[in-house]
Amino acid sequence: MMGPAHSLSGAAAWLGVGAAAAATGYTMPWPVLVVGALISAGAALAPDLDHKSATISRAFGPLSRGVCEIVDKLSHAVYKATKLRGDSNRNGGHRTLTHTWVWAVLIGAGASAIAITGGRWGVLAILFVHLVLAVEGLLWRAARVSSDVLVWLLGATSAWILAGILDKPGNGADWLFTDPGQEYLWLGLPIVLGALVHDIGDALTVSGCPILWPIPLGRKRWYPIGPPKVMRFKAGSWVEIKVLMPVFMILGGVGAAAAMNVI
Ligand SMILES: [Zn+2]
Repeated sequence: MMGPAHSLSGAAAWLGVGAAAAATGYTMPWPVLVVGALISAGAALAPDLDHKSATISRAFGPLSRGVCEIVDKLSHAVYKATKLRGDSNRNGGHRTLTHTWVWAVLIGAGASAIAITGGRWGVLAILFVHLVLAVEGLLWRAARVSSDVLVWLLGATSAWILAGILDKPGNGADWLFTDPGQEYLWLGLPIVLGALVHDIGDALTVSGCPILWPIPLGRKRWYPIGPPKVMRFKAGSWVEIKVLMPVFMILGGVGAAAAMNVI
């Protein structure tokens, strides 16, 4: 899928989690619902950090281009080191390491660690990166016509404002993890969720996605998970834009209403 569909599905998934949380007695304060949806929308672009023309690889200028090159090389090395006889040879790392559940859990856990050890600046850094990505993903071409610097400024100011709102008592810094010292531990959850939703989205497209690595399926450790061939579609096709994106918006709206106990 392309950026906007990935981001929309990430946001909708978090609103769905909000609905499930409300149903089980862990109702999210509204800032957790909003910030989590934005983080998940941003995180849903992150697995494509292994592809140099992806939104995320262009989002932070030379910095993200450099990280992208390293991630691509690392992914390719891990692919070669762990492939079984059934896995094909490949030239680059796209859609390998960063498109697995292991990666999703690792970056989510890493973000949670930064959030609880890094204090306010750690939280601001996580918010900034994901808000910039959310703007790139959700606004897409509209963000592209303006300059990178404007998008970064928008990300920085909204990160500052949202962190200020979350910090107020009762607004959800300690949502789900309530012990002292666990404030913002939950920030890793929308990051794991966004990455997994990205992988599922990619699995629906033509080439599938090796989500289960390193668990072997048959003679493949990098088995490209996906539905039967007839049900798959090309990235950016009409199915994605005319069917999936409106569906994500409706599901997100229903999820948000249920999360706020409106329905
Ligand atoms: Zn992808």
